[in-house]
Amino acid sequence: MELLIVGGGHASVALFERARAWQQRGVSVTLLSDHPYLYYSGMVPEYLGGVYSSDEVRIDLKGWCQQTGVTWHQGRAVRMDPTARTVTTAYGSTISYDVAVIDIGASNPPPPPGAKEALVSTKPMHKIERLEAWLRTLPERTSPQHLVVAGGGAAGTELGLNIQARIQRTAPRQCTVSVVEPADRLIPSFPEGASQQVANLFAEAGGRLYTGRRVQHRTPTHAVLNDGTRLPCTQLVWATGSVGSPFWQRTPFSCTDSGFVKVIDSLQIPSAPRVFAAGDCAAVGGYTDLPRIGVHAVKQGPLLADNVDRMLQHLQDGKPPERAYQSAGLRAFKPYSVAPLILSTGTASGLWRAGSIWWMRPAALRMKHLVDLRWMNRYRLPDENTWPAWQAAHARCAQDSAR
Ligand SMILES: Cc1cc2nc3c(=O)[nH]c(=O)nc-3n(C[C@H](O)[C@H](O)[C@H](O)COP(=O)(O)OP(=O)(O)OC[C@H]3O[C@@H](n4cnc5c(N)ncnc54)[C@H](O)[C@@H]3O)c2cc1C
Repeated sequence: MELLIVGGGHASVALFERARAWQQRGVSVTLLSDHPYLYYSGMVPEYLGGVYSSDEVRIDLKGWCQQTGVTWHQGRAVRMDPTARTVTTAYGSTISYDVAVIDIGASNPPPPPGAKEALVSTKPMHKIERLEAWLRTLPERTSPQHLVVAGGGAAGTELGLNIQARIQRTAPRQCTVSVVEPADRLIPSFPEGASQQVANLFAEAGGRLYTGRRVQHRTPTHAVLNDGTRLPCTQLVWATGSVGSPFWQRTPFSCTDSGFVKVIDSLQIPSAPRVFAAGDCAAVGGYTDLPRIGVHAVKQGPLLADNVDRMLQHLQDGKPPERAYQSAGLRAFKPYSVAPLILSTGTASGLWRAGSIWWMRPAALRMKHLVDLRWMNRYRLPDENTWPAWQAAHARCAQDSAR
């Protein structure tokens, strides 16, 4: 019996914890991902803000495979054939499966003309390493630099605030930071008061905000907005929301208008019950409008692991996959009715928000650090001495927050 995990995102890392038990039951497990590390999105803005190191914010997927006997395969999945039960990679190799889990995240909507090669995209998340490398060189640069973040949703705003804070500390006269948001305010999905406070923080730190406009194209020196405004731009970050991965277009599965694959509440693809899809890439039954946030992906993790476990058992018992939902008792995913989010702001305070309730306090940032470090700690490699690393990171966060 072969289990293939494609992507290894925030939802499917929960499967690692079962990998050994599955192998003992005769299941061979393979992970196919296009990058050896999974970057934990909750900590990435503060990583770029200089609070965390790269090893603190990423899970070593390849290392986990080595530790747990899972076959590691680095490559990009480009096609899936549910009849032959195979996934094909960009290099043309074909991997077969009895049960597959697809957790490949979302993509950013396409960038403007002239920008494709010259921008840093936030999806997949490992692309931000290019931005970190550029930020490290800022203090040595002699010419003025200009960072433009396209998209002032939660991700773009959190990136803008944290990068601005780092630049203030390390290269204050070296670089400007601008955020461009098509709506009339930052983080339009948040309550208005919260947007206003965040916009004030950004302005006080020296950030420049352009609302009601979008980046239309890029020249070698400027980002040009749709109203003709020309922003000097040496680095363009593309944080413009989520659409489905192009992968799904090369499958026969039914997708939403935004390109996310449709799954039932057990996270199975209805026409291919051996295939589970989870995280940002999947649109679940009655919850197709759920925001694409890691909170939902992480909540799906344990349920996904349970359902895959039951499906494997069901097939090993010689039963048909179509019947698994009822007879193997697969569980149904129910999202949080109100998903809480905490944003770091590049200051000593975090912004906590659930529905229409929000507050900005140092306690919110401390809570965020604890939640994030605890989650990451689960996925440190088993032989890592995690507790001192955890304490050190926590102490450093507390110091940074107090600045
Ligand atoms: C800057 C930023 C900050 C964010 N902060 C938060 C936050 O604080 N809280 C929150 O709840 N959400 C946050 N989000 C959203 C969060 O990142 C996503 O919801 C979450 O990552 C979704 O996880 P996932 O399981 O769908 O897959 P992902 O974690 O996106 O992982 C997908 C994996 O699949 C790999 N992959 C992609 N395509 C292929 C392919 N074709 N073949 C093989 N491998 C592939 C990728 O390299 C990646 O490792 C943030 C997003 C951004 C951009």
